[in-house]
Amino acid sequence: MKENLQKFGILEENVNLETSNTYRIKTSARYVLHPTKIEQIAAFLTYAKETKVPFFLLGNGSNVILSDSMFDGVILKLDQFKKIEYQNQEVTVGAGVMINFLARDIIEHNLSGLEWASGIPGTIGGSIYGNAEAYKISTFEYLKSVTYITKEGNIKTSLKEELTHAYRTSFFKENPGNIILEAVFFFPIGNKEKSLEIIKDRLERRISSQPLEYPSAGSVFRNPSPEMPSGKLIDDLGLKGTRVGDAMVSVKHANFIINLGNATGKDIRSLIQLVHDEVERVYHIDLILEQEYKDW
Ligand SMILES: Cc1cc2nc3c(=O)[nH]c(=O)nc-3n(C[C@H](O)[C@H](O)[C@H](O)COP(=O)(O)OP(=O)(O)OC[C@H]3O[C@@H](n4cnc5c(N)ncnc54)[C@H](O)[C@@H]3O)c2cc1C
Repeated sequence: MKENLQKFGILEENVNLETSNTYRIKTSARYVLHPTKIEQIAAFLTYAKETKVPFFLLGNGSNVILSDSMFDGVILKLDQFKKIEYQNQEVTVGAGVMINFLARDIIEHNLSGLEWASGIPGTIGGSIYGNAEAYKISTFEYLKSVTYITKEGNIKTSLKEELTHAYRTSFFKENPGNIILEAVFFFPIGNKEKSLEIIKDRLERRISSQPLEYPSAGSVFRNPSPEMPSGKLIDDLGLKGTRVGDAMVSVKHANFIINLGNATGKDIRSLIQLVHDEVERVYHIDLILEQEYKDW
């Protein structure tokens, strides 16, 4: 298998995934594959279909809860797809570009519109998939089109209007198996000083309200409604500080679960279940997970 996989990009074997997920779950994978060309992704998909080798697509791992056992398959990472091309207000961005990097890069090109994303440690691919959002602005706001490989291995470009998207979800989340390659955004003309001021304000707000000093994957549950944040429901039940192993409901922000050091994926799952069930028992609200389990 190794010889075949090497044809599809840069291949790593027996890889520790602790730094590939922001929860810092100590897990590993047999292979991590970093394709450098679109053709390699397409060829890998054909190979995986034929040989039934299991694989998972991972962005920056900032919205996932990985399994604890070694993944005996291939983690696909598009971190070689880092193109950023400017044509006036239109910007073409590779799926592997970090959205918080792009937020600052466009400012240098006199554009604005991503200040909200300056504290989000995810890739463009992962952010389109989950329609990442903050301060009521989402990744789809200034999106024009997305180019992706379909499950069948075809390369397709769809306009935003053709792609469903809503609060923390998108066509891609609802139709798993499509791999986002790149996206085109159309950003408003900006004012550098003003944008940097907004970024400073947003980051200060995050530092004061979120437990950024610990590993986490951001908000655990979606908010049932804008008027009913999950964090408040959890806080009102006195669940801050609740622990399973080294996974703990943050005392700073009740919708964050943090890793105190050696939390396993199983600890985090058990704690999520505990919080979910308690909210359901008391409020009869079925909280929906914003993060995703990657089961292997
Ligand atoms: C401290 C902190 C703060 C956060 N704040 C916010 C916030 O304010 N708002 C918010 O919305 N989120 C927030 N998040 C969550 C997270 O950063 C975002 O959801 C981010 O967009 C996920 O991107 P990722 O690359 O890490 O995706 P990953 O976690 O790697 O993957 C998430 C899903 O996307 C899929 N995916 C990844 N790349 C692609 C691709 N190229 N094509 C198709 N599917 C793909 C993966 O297969 C997986 O199913 C926060 C996280 C942290 C740790």
